[in-house]
Amino acid sequence: MYNVAKIRADFPILSREVNGKPLVYLDNGASAQKPQVVIDAVTRAYAHEYANVHRGLHTLSNIATEKYEGVRDIIARFLNAASEQNIILNSGTTEAINTVAYSWAMPRLQPGDEIILSIMEHHANIVPWHFLRERQGVVIKWVDIDAQGDLDPQAVIDAIGPRTKLIAITQMSNVLGTVVDVKTICKAAHEKGVPVLVDGSQSAVHMPVDVQDIGCDFFAITGHKLYGPSGSGALYVTTERMAEMRPFLGGGDMIRDVTRESVSYNAPPMMFEAGTPGIVQTIGFGVALDYLMDIGMDAIAAHETAIRDYANQKFAGLNWLNIQGTSATKGAIFSFTLDGAAHAHDISTVVDKKGVAVRAGSHCAMPLMAELGLTATCRASFGMYNTTDEVDTLVDALTLCHELFA
Ligand code: PLP
Repeated sequence: MYNVAKIRADFPILSREVNGKPLVYLDNGASAQKPQVVIDAVTRAYAHEYANVHRGLHTLSNIATEKYEGVRDIIARFLNAASEQNIILNSGTTEAINTVAYSWAMPRLQPGDEIILSIMEHHANIVPWHFLRERQGVVIKWVDIDAQGDLDPQAVIDAIGPRTKLIAITQMSNVLGTVVDVKTICKAAHEKGVPVLVDGSQSAVHMPVDVQDIGCDFFAITGHKLYGPSGSGALYVTTERMAEMRPFLGGGDMIRDVTRESVSYNAPPMMFEAGTPGIVQTIGFGVALDYLMDIGMDAIAAHETAIRDYANQKFAGLNWLNIQGTSATKGAIFSFTLDGAAHAHDISTVVDKKGVAVRAGSHCAMPLMAELGLTATCRASFGMYNTTDEVDTLVDALTLCHELFA
C-alpha cells in the first residue's frame, strides 16, 4: 500500500513553511526534493568516506571508488540494462546528449544527413543538434504533435528518409506531460537501420523504464529529477553503439597510456568519463535510485496517475484555466495559462505567497512554445510525495490569481 504520508516524512524540506504557509512543492519537473537517506549519504560521504576515485591505493580512495562504481550497477538495475558496462556516469541529461552528439554523431554525420526531433524536445535535446547543423550541415527534421499534444509514432517513422542517421526523442514532455510510444518508434526505426536516442529525464521519474524492452540505442537520465543530487546522471548506450563512439572529453581517468607522441584510451564506458567526476553526487544518486526501487516505480506511477486524474477533474471546473496538452497518456505535469491579463510570472509570484512553488517561463522548450503560440506558461509538476490536498491548495491559489487579474 502506497503510504504518501510516510514518504513525505522522508523528505525534510516538505515540512517547512514558505511565506508563512506549508510548502506545496509542484516544481518537480525542474528538480525534485531529496529524501533524508540521500542527504545522509552525501553527508556521510563527505564527512567520513571522501577521496578521489580510481586513483589511489589508500583506504579512503578505495571506499569512495567502491561506492561510486557500485552506482553503475544500481543504474543498470533501475533501467534494466543488460550490464553496468552499458552505463556512462555523468552530470545529467545535458551532458549525456552532448556526449551522443560529440562522440557518436559528429564523427559519422555528413552534410545533408538528417536527425529527427519532435517539436516538444527540451533544449538539451535540441541545441546539441543545432551545433551539428551549424558546424556540419546536418539537417534537423521536426515532427509535430497533434491538437492533444500527442506525438504519433507513425509521423516519426514517416519522417525517416535515406539520409536519416538518428532519431532523438523525449519519452515524456516536460511541458505537456505527454508520454511518447518510444518502443514503437525504436522498433520501426531499427527496421530502417536508424538508431534512437531517448531523453528519459522526465519519464524515468514517473514510470518504470526498461531500456531493453524499449529497444533504444541511447537513454539519458538526470539525477536531480530522480530525487538525487544535482550534477549526477547517466547515459545508457548499447554495446554496439558504444563501440562506435569516440571520446570527446579528454583527460584523466579516460586514458590507458599517454606518451609524448600518443594516447590510448581506457575501455568503455570509462573512456567517456574524463576527469574527476561528481563523486559524492553520484553516490547520492545511487541511494536515491535504491530508495525509488524500494518503493517501486509501478507504485509511484499509480500514485501519480491518481493525482493526475484528481487534478484533471478539479481543473475541468475552472473555465478560465487553459491547460496545455490533453493527451490520454499525460502524466501529472500541467502547463497552463489563465484567461485575462495575468502573465505566467505574476501567477507564479502570487501562488508562491500561498506557499505553492510552480515554474513559469518557456521551460527550455521554445520551439514547442512557438508551436503553441505562447511565450510562457506556468507549470505545476507533481512527484511521488504530492497529494490531492495539494491539488486543492493549488486550485485555491489559482482562483485567487484569477480574481486578482481578471
Ligand atoms: N530533457 C528534459 C525533458 C528535461 O525536462 C530536462 C530538464 O529540465 C533536461 C532534458 C535537461 O536535464 P539536465 O538539466 O538535468 O541536464
